[in-house]
Amino acid sequence: MNSNSDVLVVGSGPAGLFAALVAAQRGKTVRIVTQGAGSLAICGSNIDVLGYAQGQRIDEAPWAAIAQLAPEHPYSLVGEHSIRSALHCISALCAKAGSPLSHADEEKNTLVPSIVGTLKPSWLCPASAQGNSLLAARRVLVAGIEGFKDCHPALVARQLKRYPELKQASFQTVNLIMPPQPRKRTLSPLDVARFVDSPEGLAWLCRSLRPYASTADVLVLPPVCGIEHSGSVMATLGKEVHCPVVEMLSIPPAVGGLRLRAILCRELAALGVNIVENATIVRAETAGKQCLALISKGTGGERRYTAKHIIIATGGILGGGLNMSPTAAQESIFGIELPLPEVIEDRSQEAVFGDHYFTRMGVQVNADLCPVGADGAVLFNNVHFVGRALGGYDYATEKSGLGVAFATGWAAAHKV
Ligand SMILES: Cc1cc2nc3c(=O)[nH]c(=O)nc-3n(C[C@H](O)[C@H](O)[C@H](O)COP(=O)(O)OP(=O)(O)OC[C@H]3O[C@@H](n4cnc5c(N)ncnc54)[C@H](O)[C@@H]3O)c2cc1C
Repeated sequence: MNSNSDVLVVGSGPAGLFAALVAAQRGKTVRIVTQGAGSLAICGSNIDVLGYAQGQRIDEAPWAAIAQLAPEHPYSLVGEHSIRSALHCISALCAKAGSPLSHADEEKNTLVPSIVGTLKPSWLCPASAQGNSLLAARRVLVAGIEGFKDCHPALVARQLKRYPELKQASFQTVNLIMPPQPRKRTLSPLDVARFVDSPEGLAWLCRSLRPYASTADVLVLPPVCGIEHSGSVMATLGKEVHCPVVEMLSIPPAVGGLRLRAILCRELAALGVNIVENATIVRAETAGKQCLALISKGTGGERRYTAKHIIIATGGILGGGLNMSPTAAQESIFGIELPLPEVIEDRSQEAVFGDHYFTRMGVQVNADLCPVGADGAVLFNNVHFVGRALGGYDYATEKSGLGVAFATGWAAAHKV
């Protein structure tokens, strides 16, 4: 069976969903073919643009630091205009969906509290995670939920107090008690957020937080303020609790990423973009510098997809876009060879957030995001790579994951 469209996007992580959306907004017929849900199912919804450079936290001037990045960094290839346009586009989308994003200042990073009590620099975050009211507070309440795994209010309070910004603040902690729920495992942020999406869950949260509004300047919670209705949940809390609420960034399963994914998927459906799930692209048909078709394998067998333009958003080693063995590293659809240090010890470092080769490894591209070989020559003119499949950056140490995914997705959609 053959399926044709103007643009074929492979992968449904943030880079693929966003590239498809922007291309569809520009009037193209777009199809997404994807193996799995992508990392929005496990990541937060803070849009990190550049949090660290040369190991230093960037609070004041991320844009100046971006201008200093190496020429092969995806940001250097797409340029500041694409990055800012992509971020404004995603902001407008979230605002339209009733879940606004916010930043302290267009030119600065904002500090977002995490569930382990760290402050993470991010450029754009859900209004509910904005750390400004926490940093300005003198009396902070950190609330967990009884039976909830991975959130320990006393630990969060102790860790936050180490920051100079919060040295003067006093902390109180509490574990809120949820009404009994039928379940056979410990609570996760997803369980509570789904409950809070319901009218009785929202009423419970308002009732539980209200007593603390007079004794605290800010209420810090795990990310439990709804998934589908997070915008209206935050608005109701504002009206009913009368104290700023700040959600912490949590470890997976990630409520924030799922909120963002729901917004992108709703918009894609409204634009008529077809998403083919559980389908893995297993090979490409090429002629010279053109990709003629991609072949998928899924529950219904093999299927052939043709398109004028192809956007590859298959992620890194985690997403399935890159493969690495002791002897070779390759991009997974076209088999593009990636250079690999011969000495195995040079491929990683002892320090967890050290300069690991494998975290920067990826496809090299030109300014059109078309893949290039070791000699710099273009391999395919109608194929554009976006997101974590790209080489030349390390999102984990830089804190630039969703920033690169959206900026390159936006840029590729404007090349097709
Ligand atoms: C735990 C965690 C938390 C994070 N938190 C944040 C955060 O708070 N803020 C931030 O900015 N960044 C964060 N990041 C980083 C961010 O999630 C990634 O940089 C970003 O998601 C990469 O997106 P992507 O679309 O390029 O790839 P992915 O999200 O990995 O998507 C790849 C997609 O391609 C599909 N695919 C792969 N191969 C094929 C194939 N052959 N055929 C069909 N489909 C295929 C996959 O199924 C998947 O849908 C986090 C990352 C992790 C792991």
